Amino acid sequence: MSQKYEVIVIGAGAAGLMCAATAGYRGKTTLVIDHANKMAKKVLMSGGGRCNFTNLYVEPENYLSQNPHFCKSALSRYTQWDFISLVEKYQIDYYEKESGQLFCKNSSKEIRDLLLGECQQAGAKIQLKCSVDNVKRLEQGGFKLSTNMGSFICDALVIATGGLSIPTMGATGFGYQIAEQFGHKIIPTSAGLTPLTFDGKLKGAFAELSGNSVPMSVSTNGESFNSAVLFTHKGLSGPAILQISNYWKPGEPLQLNWMPGTNIEEWLSSGIEKKPESQLKTLLSTRFSQSVSSFICEQLQINCKLKQIQHKDKVKIVDFLSGWIIYPSGVEGYRVAEVTLGGVDTSEISSKTFESQRVERLFFIGEVLDVTGHLGGFNFQWAWASGNAAGEAV
Ligand SMILES: Cc1cc2nc3c(=O)[nH]c(=O)nc-3n(C[C@H](O)[C@H](O)[C@H](O)COP(=O)(O)OP(=O)(O)OC[C@H]3O[C@@H](n4cnc5c(N)ncnc54)[C@H](O)[C@@H]3O)c2cc1C
Repeated sequence: MSQKYEVIVIGAGAAGLMCAATAGYRGKTTLVIDHANKMAKKVLMSGGGRCNFTNLYVEPENYLSQNPHFCKSALSRYTQWDFISLVEKYQIDYYEKESGQLFCKNSSKEIRDLLLGECQQAGAKIQLKCSVDNVKRLEQGGFKLSTNMGSFICDALVIATGGLSIPTMGATGFGYQIAEQFGHKIIPTSAGLTPLTFDGKLKGAFAELSGNSVPMSVSTNGESFNSAVLFTHKGLSGPAILQISNYWKPGEPLQLNWMPGTNIEEWLSSGIEKKPESQLKTLLSTRFSQSVSSFICEQLQINCKLKQIQHKDKVKIVDFLSGWIIYPSGVEGYRVAEVTLGGVDTSEISSKTFESQRVERLFFIGEVLDVTGHLGGFNFQWAWASGNAAGEAV
């Protein structure tokens, strides 16, 4: 005998749990299935253990998708303020780290407990360690799921299985398989919000600078992000690099401004005027660590007193500091990426209800869709908003 539910959600992550709670509050009998041994693993590991659960300044421009309009409806109907009031209802202390990014003061476990609390209050059940072998559409409508825990039947099926990043946390391509099974197109997927790797001399140089972090502006393909760049053993990381990785294409350059917001020409001239006997490295050390300053001098191959700097070298220094061009060799990939770019093509999904326009009562929400947020709480806000919209519609 199959167990029957009005709504089954596959994926007990951010989007799935929000959807289940919303459906449960509407009186729908709801079950969330996950193959993992714990719910909301990515919530737990997010934001360095403090979950950057939303952002004060959510705009459609913070999302990448082949269809940039798709995210607008859900984001406007379930806003950051809605989630903040839920956080306040659970008396979770939070703070703004920077640029509107809201983090838990204590632990991301509090957001997991909020989601669990909402599901419990709404009467939505959660079944962990449950693997779905296949999904079939029933002739009379609805779906039948065969799992390691027997079969389940539901009227509405919600796919909330997320993207491919961090497979060790339970990420699979299951959602894409189901989408393809029912005739949906997949926008090619790739790792997003990921560190960038480098080959050759730069790899060695960056490894030596490993641990240094410099506030920079990083650009590629007409996009720019102003934030910290972290030197690592494999290349570059830090918020500015994770953000730009969503826009960088293999073979293309990155442009780095080492002193965003500073008129570098004026800064250099005034340095030369004030301390002509100082070395260039000493002037650089007023802005950067000793090791970064040495690295810049090596790259410029200029190592002299400021008063000895020729006009052509001045131009070289300003060009380097304002627009150093480098070529990454690749991205670190799904092992460490925070998100997956691409996913289920939104052109055949309703932006109001998240229902498939091909198969009645089949829904896709969260990261499995071709909607990817910038770093800063935007991905969770998408999970809450899309989960809520589908939960209202199932
Ligand atoms: C290290 C890290 C830190 C992050 N930090 C932040 C942050 O601070 N702020 C932010 O906004 N975003 C952050 N993100 C991104 C954010 O976690 C995701 O965008 C968000 O979790 C997506 O929600 P989702 O519900 O769509 O998918 P997920 O949260 O990934 O949930 C999908 C669920 O589906 C389950 N599942 C997968 N396949 C199957 C299957 N075959 N059968 C059954 N169940 C299945 C998984 O076990 C998982 O529980 C971070 C991501 C990572 C990896």
